[in-house]
Amino acid sequence: MKKDHEQIKLQLEQKLKELEERSERLENRLSQPGEADSGENAIFHENDEVLAGLNDVTIHDIHEIRLALDRIAHGKYGICVECGKAIAKARLTALPFTGTCVDCAT
Ligand SMILES: [Zn+2]
Repeated sequence: MKKDHEQIKLQLEQKLKELEERSERLENRLSQPGEADSGENAIFHENDEVLAGLNDVTIHDIHEIRLALDRIAHGKYGICVECGKAIAKARLTALPFTGTCVDCAT
């Protein structure tokens, strides 16, 4: 494994841990039952939808990071999963867990 991939792996593992903790907190909030006969129920409901949306994004990112860690483990990190070309370094710096090059992402 290349030295710079080692560094990225540590960054991704750190990020993964943060996202997993966030997702857990969101799910705990979502699983708390709202008050059935409350006039504020509608507001709770709206918040739930925002939280659920946020949780979806978080779960998506967790999934992407796991795939990126998998690619690192198999020596395929930085190679586009669509076309097999190398992903530009600037793109990897901005989006460390991306699996596609800029051409395939658009
Ligand atoms: Zn590509």
